Amino acid sequence: MAFAVTSSSAAISVSSFSRSSSSDLKVPQICSFRLADRHATVNLSQKRCAVKPVNAEPKRNDSLLPQAASISAPEVSEKVEVEDFEKLAKELDSASPLEIMDKALEKFGNDVAIAFSGAEDVALIEYAKLTGRPFRVFSLDTGRLNPETYRFFDEVEKHYGIRIEYMFPDAVEVQALVRSKGLFSFYVDGHQECCRVRKVRPLRRALKGLRAWITGQRKDQSPGTRSEVPVVQVDPVFEGLDGGVGSLVKWNPVANVDGIDIWNFLLAMNVPINSLHSQGFVSIGCEPCTRPVLPGQHEREGRWWWEDAKAKECGLHKGNLKQHSAAQLNGNGNGAAAHTDIFNSQNLVTLSRAGIENLTRLQNRKEPWIVVLYAPWCPYCQAMEESYVALAEKLAGSGVKVAKFRADGEQKEYAQKELQLGSFPTILFFPKHSAKPIKYASERRDVDSLMAFVNALR
Ligand code: SF4
Repeated sequence: MAFAVTSSSAAISVSSFSRSSSSDLKVPQICSFRLADRHATVNLSQKRCAVKPVNAEPKRNDSLLPQAASISAPEVSEKVEVEDFEKLAKELDSASPLEIMDKALEKFGNDVAIAFSGAEDVALIEYAKLTGRPFRVFSLDTGRLNPETYRFFDEVEKHYGIRIEYMFPDAVEVQALVRSKGLFSFYVDGHQECCRVRKVRPLRRALKGLRAWITGQRKDQSPGTRSEVPVVQVDPVFEGLDGGVGSLVKWNPVANVDGIDIWNFLLAMNVPINSLHSQGFVSIGCEPCTRPVLPGQHEREGRWWWEDAKAKECGLHKGNLKQHSAAQLNGNGNGAAAHTDIFNSQNLVTLSRAGIENLTRLQNRKEPWIVVLYAPWCPYCQAMEESYVALAEKLAGSGVKVAKFRADGEQKEYAQKELQLGSFPTILFFPKHSAKPIKYASERRDVDSLMAFVNALR
């Protein structure tokens, strides 16, 4: 997750607030406006929870909250209403991201903000817009982001007519770190120190101005660390505006959504997308610490790859850390033996290594073939199973053969070298009269799109 910093909290506090909705986004934020909002939401803000956050720092003023507003905020009443967020999480567990987003904005109004990293969590902004409610977005500018991400921030601001509330690291802290250890100390002694300075502390300051925040965390994102992500929880790590016990609530509206469904949503809604994704980046963070993932690798393996897989959370979501056995860390794509095979249909040919090698020789090809290179454990392959089986059914008897070739494990190197395998699934069309297979380039894997691809080439 990327977020940004300034040493001057006053600059952020009054003039740079973005309250965004399609209708009032461009209205400059002024103190009197916020103060009115503060009074309007005070009953909700008084709700307390019985869970004590850990790692709470002393109260600071350099947060997202305007100082003038914090001075005039009403006293918290003696009688505290306790909200049961565990119960609410159970109630909302099967709710849609849109419903969860709506509930978060309804409950916390101007005291909640979306944490935006510059990746596919742009979906959160789209969901917030769809609720029709005003919303706020903040981001951490670590100073080490890719140029593409800065451009993407600008594009998102323009697309939604919002101003992102950037948070920056403390200049003195960055200076001390870089002068003593250099610009790339994280490669030597781990990322925690640099992340603490450039991400965690700025985030802590941002959250001190809020009573709730909204993240794009999903259960399928991190091996070992995010398998338990409730849709809403009392933040187990950070504290909010009121400080102390249960003062911050964390909403994870897409906790139960698979990455493939996020992407389908982004494409369907024509949402702007960080151009790094088209270069193979799945997880997007700081430039020196993020890389495109290789075929079969879990997206979190694109972060801090030189460190142990279980220690990859940067501190922003440390509350998710749990002890997991090595058997559960199925991120490298090679531990696939336990997975049931997919694409099972009488209309599909299962190709062995010898079979696909034979198919690559044009003189042995009597008809065109479409072949999916897959791994049964890959969620993107699983997601297209239904449409690919439907395609096989449609093409049965048409003269076009539909096949599958399992290309993980020991077949991966061959598939990368000889079959253009980039990531799973890779779909290839072997024309009847041309030696070279043609790779399907689109992310759309519905049956109609696949059929259009076949019909264009057969
Ligand atoms: Fe520093 Fe890398 Fe962490 Fe960014 S991700 S704050 S560059 S260690």
